[in-house]
Amino acid sequence: MPKSESNNLQVILRMRPLLGKELKLNKRNVIEIIDQNTIIFDPIHNEFCSKEERFAGFARKDLRLSFDRVFGKEATNVDIFHYSLRPLISSVLKGYNCCVFVYGVTGAGKTYTMLGSDTKRGVVYLAMEELFRQIETQRSHQSIDVGISYVEVYNEQVINLLTKDGPLKLREDSNGVIIDGVIPQRIQNCDEMVTLLCIGNHNRSQHPTDANYKSSRSHAICQVHLASTNKASGLRRVVKLSMIDLAGSERGSSSSYEELRFKEGTSINKSLLALGNCIKKLAEGSKHIPYRDSNMTRILKDSLSGNCKTVMIANVSPAERSYSETYNTLLYATRAT
Ligand code: ADP
Ligand code: MG
Repeated sequence: MPKSESNNLQVILRMRPLLGKELKLNKRNVIEIIDQNTIIFDPIHNEFCSKEERFAGFARKDLRLSFDRVFGKEATNVDIFHYSLRPLISSVLKGYNCCVFVYGVTGAGKTYTMLGSDTKRGVVYLAMEELFRQIETQRSHQSIDVGISYVEVYNEQVINLLTKDGPLKLREDSNGVIIDGVIPQRIQNCDEMVTLLCIGNHNRSQHPTDANYKSSRSHAICQVHLASTNKASGLRRVVKLSMIDLAGSERGSSSSYEELRFKEGTSINKSLLALGNCIKKLAEGSKHIPYRDSNMTRILKDSLSGNCKTVMIANVSPAERSYSETYNTLLYATRAT
């Protein structure tokens, strides 16, 4: 059993197909998928590199990495959904807080995975469809209200994407961290969810499918709040499903705190770094988890801790051009396994 499974943390690797210019220009793929759980990083380079290169540490001959699941270029968003969010929907309805996030550099396929394209629904939509379907089957014994909140963390500032309010303060209460002024908006079906997501995405300075400066550097956190009332006992329970399109990991992804401190705008990746540290500690079963290190990890505290179930989808391109960024993504993702 992969170690992560025992920690309620699944790590999925998604390698997208070559796209656009890459199709013409790419000479070699840096990822070879061996089976559903295993890849080799940069196989050709490892075969052909010189002794000197090997000596200098360029050769990573045995860089076989394993994940809870690996998906290649043929995989659809529906495939990813079945392995990532679908199991989480059942868990949320059983009362567990759950969390899914996409990690990777700009252009690796995070937004495509989460929100999809015009023709291919993303995992967020597929998850909501499944959620409403399952809620319907439970109607006889419990009633469930569904609400959505959608915030952005940019430069450690929290903005409500549905109302444009912000920067907002975080407050701690006995149930965890509350974002001041964010009230989940009630929805009845998937289409209402999509409408809110569109409003939210419009309120990011640019649409998140553009590889632009700001949206690729901000974290978009969509939280689905479920308030269920058991019809027999009257017992009320509130749980959350958090779905996060993380900022591009291109800067500082492999850096230590010390290195990062010297770069401008470090807080953009402060949240990414803090998330990586929290996940690592959670995977190790550590008692002290440094949630307080960034605003994003504060917001996600009650969705990552305890019995929460978390799925990380690491997105990569196979193109040679993305060699070092892909390597860094793999390192981040395997730290969590
Ligand atoms: P990111 O959000 O990580 O910056 P995007 O999701 O915007 O990256 O993807 C960059 C481009 O690649 C987009 O044009 C997107 O449609 C395309 N793309 C990403 N993943 C896939 C995939 N699995 N299949 C086809 N096209 C993809
Ligand atoms: Mg994106």
